[in-house]
Amino acid sequence: MTDLALVSYDEAVSRYEPVIGLETHVELGTTSKMFCGSPTAFGAEPNSSVCPVCLGLPGSLPVVNRTAIEYTIRIGLALNCSIASWCRFARKNYFYPDMPKNFQISQYDEPLCTDGWLDVTVGETVVRVGIERVHLEEDTGKSLHVGGATGRIHGADYSLVDYNRAGIPLVEVVTKPVDGTGALAPVVARAYVTELRDLLRALDVSDVRMEEGSLRCDVNTSLAPKGSATWGTRTETKNVNSLRSVERAVRFEIERQAAVLDGGGRVVQETRHFHEDNGTTTPGRSKEEAQDYRYFPEPDLVPVAPSREWVEEIRASLPELPAARQARLQREWGLPDLDMVALRNAGALDLLAETVAAGAPPDQARNLWLGELSRRAHDSGTELTALPVTPAQVARVSELVAAGMLNDRLARQVLDGVLAGEGSPDEIVAARGLAVVSDDGALLAAIDDAIAANPEVAEKIRSGKIAAAGFLVGEVMKATRGQADAARAHELILERLGQS
Ligand SMILES: [Zn+2]
Repeated sequence: MTDLALVSYDEAVSRYEPVIGLETHVELGTTSKMFCGSPTAFGAEPNSSVCPVCLGLPGSLPVVNRTAIEYTIRIGLALNCSIASWCRFARKNYFYPDMPKNFQISQYDEPLCTDGWLDVTVGETVVRVGIERVHLEEDTGKSLHVGGATGRIHGADYSLVDYNRAGIPLVEVVTKPVDGTGALAPVVARAYVTELRDLLRALDVSDVRMEEGSLRCDVNTSLAPKGSATWGTRTETKNVNSLRSVERAVRFEIERQAAVLDGGGRVVQETRHFHEDNGTTTPGRSKEEAQDYRYFPEPDLVPVAPSREWVEEIRASLPELPAARQARLQREWGLPDLDMVALRNAGALDLLAETVAAGAPPDQARNLWLGELSRRAHDSGTELTALPVTPAQVARVSELVAAGMLNDRLARQVLDGVLAGEGSPDEIVAARGLAVVSDDGALLAAIDDAIAANPEVAEKIRSGKIAAAGFLVGEVMKATRGQADAARAHELILERLGQS
């Protein structure tokens, strides 16, 4: 079964209403594991960051990591959740080869944080995403299947297991079902994960690197016919590990489920795998029969009971959160909503903030980052943040433009030089002889030449067709190799021809 979609996206969302839900796993940036003192460094020698507790050896006892509790409370407070005054960990029983204890310590019916929300901006629409719960659990180890073509267990010669990640603290943030977003559902899913990632980064509780797996998403999608009061059966696409993939996975599931429903079929409740290469999902484990994990309160741990004073202390220590910061910067910069959205989408908010802090006028700096530099990043297939230019350099170019020393064309040449590693903007201006010719004497010589060479254009302007002056400005720019101050040239041409 290929599972390729047969219904276009537009058709699908014209007949069906999607409901999405997101479960995000976040690896906390604590220095030691959830229930022991083993270090959490990424990329250590296999099975070197382990101890009897995280290996589940008989007689070892777990102890809760206080910092992990504190980080989880920070996340809960930033997501407007209620913080439990008393809750317990639970034992989730299932067999898994890379889980040494054969159970996972998690939270079940008593999560640490419940019932919050996160506002997500899509274009000019704000969608309030409800947060069901934020709870703590431990990560499992990692299997490596050696031999065979696919890297999967089937066809492998043997398997290796690395327990370094077993016991790393994981926070799971679970949304309530999000409905009513219609065709925007995939974009809302992506915007939510982006907002959550930025929030977690601001809280300094995780390095939130999706490519290293420290932030990963399970994406739930269901469809119901428009106007239906009941939601459809949902599928759960597991371990989606980039923002773009979150959007693509929801989009594909909407198309696929619409095709199933159109064909009179029924959507099967199951987990699915997302494939980066072709943007499709394929079935994993069926969830038609609920698994019995035999949860029970973890007998080796005392309950967690954060005092009100501690919670309030944590609340008071929260940093400025991304939404508040963005609103403040927008007020300070005086930029319209659309600019702020564009800056956010390009990941350029911090770049602009640093450029303005280095002395650039906000609108000038915005033009450079969202215009010329975005185009360069796009052309070279890199991120804006990865371009070899610093906010301080962009600030200097902005200042030179604002002072009339550079026009747009010359500013581009200076940026060329900076990106090519030729030095600071001032060094490049000096070395390449780039400066606007605004000295009237030099300009007038070029203007008189242009008038003499184009008498019929000059005559039009004399007779009142002022728009024709643009042609002469172009000729002056050519003659000065783009170094003339175009606005001043325009003024002087009109003056010369009796039109000012
Ligand atoms: Zn350990």
